[in-house]
Amino acid sequence: MAGFEIDPCEKCEEVMQPYLDRVLSEDEVGEAEQHLAGCPYCARRYRFEESLRRFVRKACSEQMPPELKERLAALRTPL
Ligand SMILES: [Zn+2]
Repeated sequence: MAGFEIDPCEKCEEVMQPYLDRVLSEDEVGEAEQHLAGCPYCARRYRFEESLRRFVRKACSEQMPPELKERLAALRTPL
């Protein structure tokens, strides 16, 4: 994607979703966190995924206001 300077990371695809879902073992969580600390792509991706999940959880418990929908759409764009 234009302007996206950091290469996508295979490790990210492998551990990010299970890490966010909190389904990894303690060892795997440690490994994922270690990787996040040293990989700008994953750190950035993690922040994005986490904020997205917060919005989704919020949206499930209440009616989503139009401004929130716009913010969600704006969040998706950089990726
Ligand atoms: Zn990575």
